[in-house]
Amino acid sequence: MIPRRPCVIVHYHEISLKRGNRPLFLRRLQENIARAVGDLGPVRVHQLPGRIVLDLADHPAPEAVRARLDRVCGVANTALAVRTGSSLEALRAAVDHVIEGLAFPSFRITARRAFKTFPLTSTDLNRELGAHVQRQRPEARVDLHHAALEIHVEVLPHEAFVYPDRRPGPGGLPVGSAGTVAALISGGIDSPVAAWRMMKRGCRVLFVHFHSVPYLPDASIRKVRELVGRLTQWQYFSRLHLVPFGEIQREVVLSVSPMARVVVYRRLMVRIAQALARQSGALALVTGESLGQVASQTLHNLARIDEAAELPILRPLIGMDKLEITDQARVLETLEISNEPDADCCTLFVPAHPATRLTLEEVAAMEARLDVAALVRTGVEAAATETFDFPEGAGPFPERTAKRERVAPPQLG
Ligand code: ATP
Ligand code: MG
Repeated sequence: MIPRRPCVIVHYHEISLKRGNRPLFLRRLQENIARAVGDLGPVRVHQLPGRIVLDLADHPAPEAVRARLDRVCGVANTALAVRTGSSLEALRAAVDHVIEGLAFPSFRITARRAFKTFPLTSTDLNRELGAHVQRQRPEARVDLHHAALEIHVEVLPHEAFVYPDRRPGPGGLPVGSAGTVAALISGGIDSPVAAWRMMKRGCRVLFVHFHSVPYLPDASIRKVRELVGRLTQWQYFSRLHLVPFGEIQREVVLSVSPMARVVVYRRLMVRIAQALARQSGALALVTGESLGQVASQTLHNLARIDEAAELPILRPLIGMDKLEITDQARVLETLEISNEPDADCCTLFVPAHPATRLTLEEVAAMEARLDVAALVRTGVEAAATETFDFPEGAGPFPERTAKRERVAPPQLG
C-alpha cells in the first residue's frame, strides 16, 4: 500500500525575490498560516523547498482550511493535494485518486520536477501519466490549452504532490514581514481599504480612530470596531486606539476659521496618531486619502498635513478613484459596514466649502492660537485601547506563537 495523505500545498511568488530576508519571510508566512487555520483542527504546517505544506491527515474540514488561506497575505495560490511518494507507481495511484468520481471531456498533466536527478523528465512524466489517465478514461482527450481538468504533479526528492485545481491567493507579502504602521481609520469606505493594502505589503497595522463622543453618537466607534474585526482576519491580532476628539475640536472651533478647520483637525490627528504609533514602534502613518476626492485632499492641503508629521504618511489610495476603492471594499467585505450611517467627527463644526489651498503660513498662524502640544498630550492620554483577535479567542499574535517550535515534516515512503 502506497502512503497517500491529504494536504494543502501553498505556493508563494514575491517572497522568492527577497533573497537575503527569505528565511525570515517564509517563517512569517508559515506562522501566519498556522495561526489562520489553528482553530479548525489539527494541522501541521511546514516548509519544503519552494512551497509550504499543510498536513491534513485526519482533518475534519480540509476545504475550510483552504478557504482561510484566501486571506493569508503572501500566498500566491493553494491547492488541495494528495501527497505521496515520488515513484511512478505512487504517482499513478495518486492520479487515480484525484480523478476518482470526476467527469472531464479533456485534461492535461502539468508535471514539474523540483530536482533534476529524478529519472524521468517533466515531459516524460506528462506522457506517462497522461497515458495512464487515458487508459481509464478513453473518452477524455488531452488538451494542452483548454483542458477541462488540469492535473498538477510536483515531484520533490522524497515525495510528490498531485492535485487537480489551483486557486489564487491574495499575493503580496506576509503580514509582519515589513514592520508596523499606524492607520488612521474613520468609519468611511477608504481608510479600511488603505489599511488592508498596507497589510498586503507585509505591514502589521495598528488602528487609530478619532471620535466625538459625547458630542456625537458612538456610531463611528461601533463601525470602526466592526471594520477592525473584519481586517483582523488578515493579521490575526489588532490594537485599536480610540481617541476622544470632540473636546479638541471645540478648542479648534474657538480660534480657527471655519474654512481651515478640516486641515487643522487632520494635523492634530496626525500628531496624536504619530505619538501613539511611536509607543508601539510603528514606523509610518497610513490614511485613506485619495487625491482630489474632497477639499482636504488637494495637493496643497495634503502638503499641510504632511508638514505636521515627522513619520512618513503613507497614502496607498492616492491614485485610485472612488469606484476602484469601493470595488476593493466590496471584495474585503468592509463596504457594507462602511455604508452604515454615522456622523463622521470631521463633519462636526465644518463648513460646506473648506479651503482647498491653505498655505503653511496661514495654518501656522491659526495653530499659534492653540496650545498644540497640550491638545496632542490630551488626545494621547485619553486614548482607550481595545484588542481584537482572529480566530476569535486565539489571543495575541505573534507574541505567543513566535516562540513555538517548528514541527518536523512527517516522513513518507
Ligand atoms: P474615509 O472613507 O477613510 O473616511 P474620506 O474620503 O471620508 O475617507 P476624509 O474624511 O477626508 O476622507 O478622511 C481622510 C482620511 O483621514 C481618512 O481616510 C482617514 O485615514 C483619516 N480620518 C478621517 N477621519 C478620521 C477619524 N475620525 N479617525 C481616524 N482617521 C480619520
Ligand atoms: Mg471620512
